[in-house]
Amino acid sequence: MIRFFEKDPYSPIQYVYDVEKILYKGKSPFQEIVVIENPFFGRMLILDGVVQLTERDEFFYHEMLVHVVMHAHPEPKRVVVIGGGDGGAVREVLRHETVEKVFFVEIDEEVIKVSKKFFPTVSCELENSKVEIKCMDGSEFIKSRKGDIDIVIVDSTDIIGFAKSIFTVEFFKSVKESLGDNGMLVTLSESLHFHRDMVLGVQETMRLVFPVVDLYTAPIATYAGNWWTFSAASKALGLREMRKPGISGLRYYSDEIHRHAFLPPRMYEKLLKKSLNW
Ligand code: SAM
Repeated sequence: MIRFFEKDPYSPIQYVYDVEKILYKGKSPFQEIVVIENPFFGRMLILDGVVQLTERDEFFYHEMLVHVVMHAHPEPKRVVVIGGGDGGAVREVLRHETVEKVFFVEIDEEVIKVSKKFFPTVSCELENSKVEIKCMDGSEFIKSRKGDIDIVIVDSTDIIGFAKSIFTVEFFKSVKESLGDNGMLVTLSESLHFHRDMVLGVQETMRLVFPVVDLYTAPIATYAGNWWTFSAASKALGLREMRKPGISGLRYYSDEIHRHAFLPPRMYEKLLKKSLNW
């Protein structure tokens, strides 16, 4: 059997996957796009040599990326998803009946096309009439919104190359301006095992802009370091509190997970003071 050796620029170890079949291999103007079939994880989407999602475990990531802020916000109606070309984040956002509009801003149209073909259970809501697709850089799109967005969700590739534009202080300032009074932002921020300095970097940058910033984690089998973090920010309300009952039909996220996913306060303080010793 052929094998795929992941080329994650930030991982100190290399993950290797058996490849039953290469289903797609192409190059867009932005990145190399590959879809393989693995005996355990099923279909896998790989961008520039880095695993983005697998059929088997994508729900851990997508549910945790989306539902924490969607439950912390009292009434999310207008949502922006930046990146997330596979459609998984959009699918989760649309489980919330309050949602009226989703701006889906993916820089690479090819990722959307490939996901529609090979990951129909992930991309299934992209044709929903509430979704407006914009193929452009999320940092540019967000500058055009002023105070009319409830939630911004960043589902990007690792913090490298064109994805860097959505982790800068300028970007976070534009996000703050785009949000209404109770507005919230969430973004992936890498692993506490392998990338503690990157996690801190995202947190410190967010703290320059937002009065409320927090950090929660989820176990993701296929992302380097596995103990994956999500950095969330808010203009006013705390993020640890759920402001509506949990929606049903999910596989990992629940009210119990919401309460326990955030870093315990003393540990979080240690992280911010750079005294977590590992
Ligand atoms: N869940 C995945 C992960 O963390 O590995 C991310 C999946 S999703 C496919 C990532 C998408 O973000 C890619 O399709 C990429 O094109 C998009 N992306 C990266 N930087 C972007 C930017 N600045 N604006 C819009 N989309 C961006």
